[in-house]
Amino acid sequence: MTTPTFLSLGVAEPIQRALAAENYLEPTPIQARAIPLILSGRDVVGIAQTGTGKTAAFGLPLLQRLAADRTKAGPHAVRALILAPTRELALQIHDSLGRYGRHLGLRLAVVLGGVNQSRQVEAARRGVDILVATPGRLLDLVNQKHIRLGAATTLVIDEADRMFDMGFIRDVRRIVAQLPRERQSMLFSATMPADVAHLVAEVLRNPARIDISPAAVTVDLVEQRVHFVAEKDKRALLLDLLRDHAMTRVIVFTRTKHHANRVAELLDKTGHRVNTIHGNKSQNARQHALEGFRTGRSRILVATDIASRGIDIDDVSHVINLDIPDVAENYVHRIGRTARAGSGGTAISFCDPSERESLRAVERLVKRPLAVAGGERRPPVFAQIVEPKPAPKAARSAERPRSRSRFRNRRNSPRAA
Ligand code: AMP
Repeated sequence: MTTPTFLSLGVAEPIQRALAAENYLEPTPIQARAIPLILSGRDVVGIAQTGTGKTAAFGLPLLQRLAADRTKAGPHAVRALILAPTRELALQIHDSLGRYGRHLGLRLAVVLGGVNQSRQVEAARRGVDILVATPGRLLDLVNQKHIRLGAATTLVIDEADRMFDMGFIRDVRRIVAQLPRERQSMLFSATMPADVAHLVAEVLRNPARIDISPAAVTVDLVEQRVHFVAEKDKRALLLDLLRDHAMTRVIVFTRTKHHANRVAELLDKTGHRVNTIHGNKSQNARQHALEGFRTGRSRILVATDIASRGIDIDDVSHVINLDIPDVAENYVHRIGRTARAGSGGTAISFCDPSERESLRAVERLVKRPLAVAGGERRPPVFAQIVEPKPAPKAARSAERPRSRSRFRNRRNSPRAA
């Protein structure tokens, strides 16, 4: 089979020119499969995470269809709606589509929370070809009648699993209820748990399914190692690893905001150029942190899972997981930050004895044991730690009389009397 090109997929000339300027030489696998389907008008469900090129996979055919049909959006109306769970992702999608569509003269706008709404209202008033939005603010503006969705004949739901994690799903359903029934819908999700599958069944019509599962995409490109280390020694190990000059651009992941702040403080005090990004930071602070990292002003970005999802920064040389994520899928998202569109990277995870089960879950998901750093074997302590398993029912009830009788014996003993 010949390798597809953007031309052979049917991408129009003005978009091809924009892609050439981006130095996109050939389509990524998800683009190769999604573009012709979406151009033909099909609904599509894509199992793919950020980093696979999925923004262009839905964005290019979307831009092309809107440009081909020059219906104008009326005041307050939207022709195509893209929903994203986080502000960062919404901004990124808006920015990418702006670049891919720069020769098309379409109107793009972004609507997101955490900033003043007046500019968003003003943009909507003139009518919008493509609106990228986070669900909460969009619903606000719809309820205030600044935005009308009745003419939005294309819908994209991006990172649907994250929508559920972040509690946006009711808002998403309310938004979908405002859209016309006759429409083209696409949904992308890194994973396909039952909730997301239900949403697909509700929202999409006979969708084509494209599965670019993370295990196949990222995991193979990323060199992965694990250090078995006591919790109290993690920070010293981090500082030690950071002495390696090959770590040019590093994301350090922590499970909690609190931990992220403490680690960033430590790094700052020890002379590292560091930015932090987590859910408690204001929109401006998050943008500022990302910009600092993107431009290389800081070498290290400390991030939590929610804030980091979808961050699109090229040339991240290393991801360090200061703790093993509770949800194994987050591991794949984290390490995916260092394997953008085909380039490899290194992911180093720290695992203390309490995280053994989480590590197992990760290894099951990526279908391999992580290499132990330094070529050591797994420390025997890891094999020895046995957490008390809940006893089977029968055994538990058998134990009860014994303990009661011990108690009785004690009370009846001469000392207790
Ligand atoms: P996405 O999954 O959409 O976040 O894209 C991940 C990264 O891949 C972004 O930095 C894109 O600019 C880049 N990218 C997307 N498509 C291509 C392509 N066909 N060739 C090279 N880079 C691409």
